[in-house]
Amino acid sequence: MKFFTLVFSLFLFIETQSQQIIPCYTREIQDANEKKYSWYKRAVDDAFNEAKFHALESRKSDGFTDDSIYTINVVFHVLWNVAKENLHDSILKRQIEILNRDFGRRNADTTKTKFAFRSRASAAGIQFKLATVDPKGDSTSGVLRIQTDKKGFVVNLPGGFYSDSMKYTSKGGSNAWNNSKYLNIWVCRTKNKITNGMGQEEDKDDQILGFAFPPANMPNWAPNSSAESPELDGMVLHYKVVGDNNPNLMPASLKGGRTAVHEAGHYLGLRHIWGDGIDDCADSDGIDDTPDAKNKQQQTCDSLNTCTEATNPQLPDMSENYMDYTSELCTNMFSKGQVDLMRGVMKTKRKLLYSYGLSVENALLNPTMNLYPNPVSSELHVEFDLMEQVKCEIAIFNQLGEKVMSREVNHRFIDEKLNVEALPISFYTIKIISANNKVYSSKFIKLD
Ligand SMILES: [Zn+2]
Repeated sequence: MKFFTLVFSLFLFIETQSQQIIPCYTREIQDANEKKYSWYKRAVDDAFNEAKFHALESRKSDGFTDDSIYTINVVFHVLWNVAKENLHDSILKRQIEILNRDFGRRNADTTKTKFAFRSRASAAGIQFKLATVDPKGDSTSGVLRIQTDKKGFVVNLPGGFYSDSMKYTSKGGSNAWNNSKYLNIWVCRTKNKITNGMGQEEDKDDQILGFAFPPANMPNWAPNSSAESPELDGMVLHYKVVGDNNPNLMPASLKGGRTAVHEAGHYLGLRHIWGDGIDDCADSDGIDDTPDAKNKQQQTCDSLNTCTEATNPQLPDMSENYMDYTSELCTNMFSKGQVDLMRGVMKTKRKLLYSYGLSVENALLNPTMNLYPNPVSSELHVEFDLMEQVKCEIAIFNQLGEKVMSREVNHRFIDEKLNVEALPISFYTIKIISANNKVYSSKFIKLD
């Protein structure tokens, strides 16, 4: 199977006059990278296969063998020149909600998943949250707002080159936070450089909607791989496709806030389900449970079967997959194979983004919360040193973020036994929230 067709993710071009979509730029950029770096193709292939190897370990029949939901800390860099590009917090927060809804398979439109694929669809066990602590340890909203004199950031350059200028403060953008601990998302007006009918270069708005880099920086990778240097790792989103409550206009097929879901899929190692080939069935995304498709489905909702499966059953194209270019009105699933791969990536290439449910603030403060037994059936033992004599609340939250148990304690050395027998079987987050607003969290599994 051919695995190396994706390196950058979505370069989606929309011809604004005709509303027709011009094919994605990925192949051209892939070609450029392969020409530039002799090791590139091999590095991409190796990285994917390593994640897949770990993916195979990660699912036992129908459940994860991991004991955690991975939570990724996000920092938005909102780069704005005119006021409307300076997206309101409510839009950014809504984008996080959409990511969590879709990655948690809590989207209402799961009912639209074709019957043939319902048993293949899965929640990812991966969630996103706005960072609450910055790299220096200070509190943050997780949103950086940078007024720039740039009236947009050109992504593609003549000759098959590309630009990451939005990721440099010195170029009117914003430098990344530690890319191994935060998912950096740059939100800006992106531009597409074209040559018009008069032979002149023109920078077009609203055509390139986003891109992300697949996992990089593995020990077996050459330096400066994938993202050309580590501080460029992350996702870029056009400001008009963030959230679904964004007043800036885009067609309905792009209003669902799912460009970010698609890009996060790439960031976590996924490829386009049609395998990035050119109208043939030979290219694969490398995932076993996404049927072959000849080509992308561009902003439509058609039910097609473009490829014959090598073995039965014969299946339609999985156009409802987030990694197609289907209208966002009709995408609603990741497959189990994709989920396994993303979780494989979280265990390997993106492992510093989380620490088994510990968020960045915990990693910075480096506390050790002892929870045992874990998994637990009846009594959960919690041991923790608050490092100061202060009142605190021990609280347990379910996967919806609802508080299901709480206890107040007033001593530095916490040594509590919580009876969790009545809680349903599931993953839970336990938080110790001190009176001076420090929050420490960890995860546990409740068994029968
Ligand atoms: Zn893509």
